[in-house]
Amino acid sequence: MNILMLGAPGSGKGSQAELIENDYGLLQISTGELLRKAVSEKSAEGIRADVYISKGELVPDELVLKLLTERLNDPDCNKGVILDGFPRNVFQAELLDGILEKYRKKIDIVFNIESPFEILKERLLARRMCAKCGKGYNMISNPPKSVYCECGGEIIRRSDDNEATIKNRLDVYLISTKPLINYYEKKEVLVNIDGNRKIPEIYQDVKVTIKKKGY
Ligand code: ADP
Repeated sequence: MNILMLGAPGSGKGSQAELIENDYGLLQISTGELLRKAVSEKSAEGIRADVYISKGELVPDELVLKLLTERLNDPDCNKGVILDGFPRNVFQAELLDGILEKYRKKIDIVFNIESPFEILKERLLARRMCAKCGKGYNMISNPPKSVYCECGGEIIRRSDDNEATIKNRLDVYLISTKPLINYYEKKEVLVNIDGNRKIPEIYQDVKVTIKKKGY
């Protein structure tokens, strides 16, 4: 089974992908995380990507595609993947169709997680993460117990979770990514999920859908 997570920044698609990964033995692939890793390693791709990420723009398609195909070539992807953050525009969706065809695979379910933009902005401003293990926190809904994570790592704010960049990321979502709802609706794989609820409630719907689809 292969799953795709659609949703605006802050919609909680990463949190749901993590839960699916644990329960269904699929592999979560987040292009945002692949890019942030490249940035922290200061690779040639990372240095290029950093300029776009810090402005809240999409990183050039060819750069994201390179990181993604490298990752998809790893044998642990054979058990099925949850794509989180890719595709982000129609061109990337068409590229993905080509890749899947080559590997004789398909996307079985696309979860589209929706929430009002005001809520998304609030969530992104309150979002924090552990610099060491990557665990996510939220200063409103899930605050850390101290300035350090349980693993001992420092709790930080993602550099693109600031007001100006958030605004741009939401605009980019509306212009480039939202058309994908229609793209996958036409392929009859889209499932809309109300994301304006607590994480476990949303996940309940996700699990019911996966079961209904026979997995
Ligand atoms: P969010 O969904 O909260 O914006 P991500 O971690 O998915 O966070 O992405 C962070 C940033 O990484 C994006 O704003 C963008 O600059 C870049 N990025 C991630 N995935 C892609 C992609 N598929 N194509 C282009 N840029 C991407």
